[in-house]
Amino acid sequence: MARTATKSVTRKTVAKKPAPTAAAERTSPFELTELQKELIAVVNEIGPAMAARAYKHDADATFPFEDYDDMRRAGLLGICVPKAYGGLGADYSTYCLVSAEIGRYSGATALTFNMHVACSLWTSYLTDSLTMTKAERAEHEHNRRIHYARMVKEGKIYAQPFSEGGAAAAGKAPFGTLATKVEGGWVLNGKKIFASLSGAADYYGVLATEDKPERSRRDTLFVAVPADAQGASVVGPWDPLGMRATVSRTLLLKDVFVPDEAQLMPRGVYHQAAMRWPHMFLTLCPTYMGIAQAAYDFTVKYLRGEVEGQPPVKRRMYPTKQIAVAEMFIKLEQTWALFHRVIRESRIDPAKSDRLRAYAAQYTVMENCNDICRLAIRTCGGLSMLKSLPLERYYRDSRCGSLMLPWTAELCVDRLGRETLYEPGETDE
Ligand SMILES: Cc1cc2nc3c(=O)[nH]c(=O)nc-3n(C[C@H](O)[C@H](O)[C@H](O)COP(=O)(O)OP(=O)(O)OC[C@H]3O[C@@H](n4cnc5c(N)ncnc54)[C@H](O)[C@@H]3O)c2cc1C
Repeated sequence: MARTATKSVTRKTVAKKPAPTAAAERTSPFELTELQKELIAVVNEIGPAMAARAYKHDADATFPFEDYDDMRRAGLLGICVPKAYGGLGADYSTYCLVSAEIGRYSGATALTFNMHVACSLWTSYLTDSLTMTKAERAEHEHNRRIHYARMVKEGKIYAQPFSEGGAAAAGKAPFGTLATKVEGGWVLNGKKIFASLSGAADYYGVLATEDKPERSRRDTLFVAVPADAQGASVVGPWDPLGMRATVSRTLLLKDVFVPDEAQLMPRGVYHQAAMRWPHMFLTLCPTYMGIAQAAYDFTVKYLRGEVEGQPPVKRRMYPTKQIAVAEMFIKLEQTWALFHRVIRESRIDPAKSDRLRAYAAQYTVMENCNDICRLAIRTCGGLSMLKSLPLERYYRDSRCGSLMLPWTAELCVDRLGRETLYEPGETDE
């Protein structure tokens, strides 16, 4: 009798197995736009090849150039370049959904894709809503046309090395990298650590402080340095725990001249963006949302005995496995729910509640992603930890999420603790 019941459950389950659909579509409480569906479908076409390459790039800590070739061919390098400049014209939430889908296949590719895309997302969708004089807007128009043409027509890759190892990347001090104004451009001097895409990017979108007698965060300059500029060099080793295929080595800038048109934003505009558009720093989340989904999907397949190349051993009948996967599902759904909400709340000058929710979302995505991976390893067991399977890579990659400045998990808690209890300018003196 029990045997018959088991058989019929098996048959029923197989018959009802859902066709694989995009994670963003499955989890979104909102109807996706046609563009979102189209771009996500593109990712699902090129994604399996990215996933197949991910093992080798992780093992060797090398950059996945082939993934970029595929994304370039699919037009994704211009995803956030406005249509008027030949791009796909994706808005903030569209980018986030597409990026999360990439993260399901390769976390490191999604993370570096974020650095590249931010250089167009921030300079289009975001800057269009900021306050600029007519002259600044004209200058911005002139410069971004050049950068967008490189991304769309030439398929060039941009990176975003901001971190310096001090308090600047956390938004607490001016950047130590200095930009000195000279005739026709700027001379840059400084050092950037964790320069993802080092040696792979064609341009590094660097943040520097204008070299004035009194240095201020207001005078932050966002400028694209060509990788082959005289005085620019990539140094140091790269052998980290996770996100190894990001190749985030150190970038040195020694008397590097860049012309005025290298500016990705007019002078002073980056600071305005950072103050008025907090969601600009949330764009690292999609990568980790994708990894969390991948860890959950792997676990379900593994417990059902359906992982390709593995013996078809089922483990799903054990209550402990069912509890673990239930816990993972609950965490995953909670995380997606917050993610879907906050990416649609991105706007200039958001309400305080929206800003606080963005910090909470960043914290939740980064911490839950790592926790879901932890649960996945614990319940799938020793075999799942082997490097021949992707779970141990998800686990290592997921560890990096809460370390990413300026919104590390600690700094999100720090901001939330203060900003929930104090209004701007309030003290206890
Ligand atoms: C895989 C990977 C790729 C990366 N790619 C890039 C990239 O492309 N571009 C880029 O700019 N950076 C990148 N980073 C760097 C990242 O954003 C951080 O800057 C870096 O991890 C900081 O390392 P640190 O040890 O110097 O941190 P520290 O600045 O020493 O901070 C350590 C911790 O202390 C806390 N902390 C720091 N400052 C404060 C403060 N003022 N108040 C309270 N707490 C604070 C934070 O929680 C932080 O996690 C990358 C990092 C990783 C791991």
